[in-house]
Amino acid sequence: MKILEERIRKDGVVKKGNVLKVDSFLNHQMDVVLFNQMGEEFKRLFSDRPINKILTIEASGIGIACIVAQHFNVPVVFAKKTQSINLDGEMYCTKIESFTHNRTYDVIVSKKFLKPEDHILIIDDFLANGCAVDGLIDLVKSAGASVEGVGIAIEKGFQSGGNLIRNKGVRVESLAIIESMDDEKGEILFREQ
Ligand code: 5GP
Repeated sequence: MKILEERIRKDGVVKKGNVLKVDSFLNHQMDVVLFNQMGEEFKRLFSDRPINKILTIEASGIGIACIVAQHFNVPVVFAKKTQSINLDGEMYCTKIESFTHNRTYDVIVSKKFLKPEDHILIIDDFLANGCAVDGLIDLVKSAGASVEGVGIAIEKGFQSGGNLIRNKGVRVESLAIIESMDDEKGEILFREQ
């Protein structure tokens, strides 16, 4: 998606440790006009899939997921990061290792909001090593629901997540795929799609 690539080039900041900061339009201040264009594109890309719910993870996936959901006219469920797991059997639970915070979270979704008959589109802002998306897939599978696909705003194609998830046979559509980035020169190269 050219418009997203241009915005990343203009406003993205490459940090040490393979981290791209996009705080000015995606992760802190949010450009909802851009989000809306992204939602339109995800709708086009997944128009052949019978999606009835969107699943994301707090916090940075929620804004994008809500705008994407308007294009599909379906509800959004976000998985919650928690420290104290409620073991009363009301929740699906998985563990997710955070790329940016270097720690592991227990992540939960209420059984009320994921059902075997659900057809889920997973949405997140970044795909890096794939732990977040893999954990979300695990939650969907625990519920006996179907993963129709994964929609990502920015995939870091030089990290392993893309292969990890695609090799499971899950369709992943990323609006921008970064082939390489250099924190010293501030250069970002995108994969042709
Ligand atoms: P993964 O689980 O695929 O390793 O990492 C994905 C999660 O980590 C995303 O939900 C995102 O919040 C965060 N993340 C990974 N890489 C980056 C990055 O380069 N920049 C930012 N802002 N977040 C990232």
